[in-house]
Amino acid sequence: MSRGGSGFIGQSLSQLLYRRGHKVTVVSRHPGESRITWDEVSKRGIPACDAVVNLAGENVLNPFKRWTPQFKDEVTSSRIETSRILALAISQSESPPRSWILVTGVGYYPPSRKQEYSEESPGGDADFLSRLVKDWEAAGQLPITDHNPKTQLVRIRTGVVLGRTGGALPSMLWPFRLFLGGPVGSGQQPFPWVHIEDLCRLLCQTIEQEGSGGGILNAVSPSSISDTNSDFTQALSKALSRPAVVPAPAFAIRALLGTDRAVMLLEGQRVSPKRTLQSGFTFLYPDLASALVDLVKT
Ligand code: NDP
Repeated sequence: MSRGGSGFIGQSLSQLLYRRGHKVTVVSRHPGESRITWDEVSKRGIPACDAVVNLAGENVLNPFKRWTPQFKDEVTSSRIETSRILALAISQSESPPRSWILVTGVGYYPPSRKQEYSEESPGGDADFLSRLVKDWEAAGQLPITDHNPKTQLVRIRTGVVLGRTGGALPSMLWPFRLFLGGPVGSGQQPFPWVHIEDLCRLLCQTIEQEGSGGGILNAVSPSSISDTNSDFTQALSKALSRPAVVPAPAFAIRALLGTDRAVMLLEGQRVSPKRTLQSGFTFLYPDLASALVDLVKT
């Protein structure tokens, strides 16, 4: 079962799960085939299933939405309320799932060009995004009840998810194709990222693996520990055979997105997938060159 399953990551995950023989029910604001709505979950709880994955969330970087208090509330509540409702439904279920997976972000760790972070690193108090991730992850905590289910809670903190059909990459491609691509701001900010296929494979492993004990997993490529925005720009330029000489200046990004959101593009975190690798997961796309060559090929 997947909440937010109609979005970019949710659709890719559903396809992979179908291919692996699983059945998927999407929880959505909009009713439809193989879907249940929020109201239905609130009234009747969740259907019997092996795993619940929360992928719901208003798009933080939607350039068409101004960074108003109402939009900030929507960004926050679409993550926290959905996590809280699902955690409650799981705790009240007669046949609770084995896994409850929250997909959050590496924005939990404070932006820094020097500091290296793994799953054990502290965070959650640096800026709007890191506080959001802290509260989002806390909202997913299963309430203590008399019949507390033996459900493992896994928090997957993902970097920028690179894919053909959604997320940040498609909107970055057209400037490059028009010879207008270049680094964002100084280009020296860390660029933690993961290929959509690797993220979905990690989610599948987490759903299918019994007894991993839950906890935090960073979904970032191994090279993310040292990749910068400039490295990403150069690798994209090479994969597309286009120059990368037109930078997007920091002031323009701030003017377009507002200071809180501009931080997400102008700063970053050096993150390693230490515990993810220890879990036995292997990345198909461990570096930018292999990921971008795959993603831009026609
Ligand atoms: P999408 O924007 O593609 O999909 C998000 C889903 O959330 C939609 O399917 C929609 O479902 C649901 N949704 C949107 N707004 C609301 C709302 N106001 N209330 C309730 N549900 C809402 O996002 P992604 O697939 O890219 O991301 C999924 C999750 O992963 C998000 O929480 C995101 O923050 C997180 N993440 C994504 C990253 C990325 O690079 N893509 C990086 C780090 C974290 P419906 O319309 O069917 O209700």
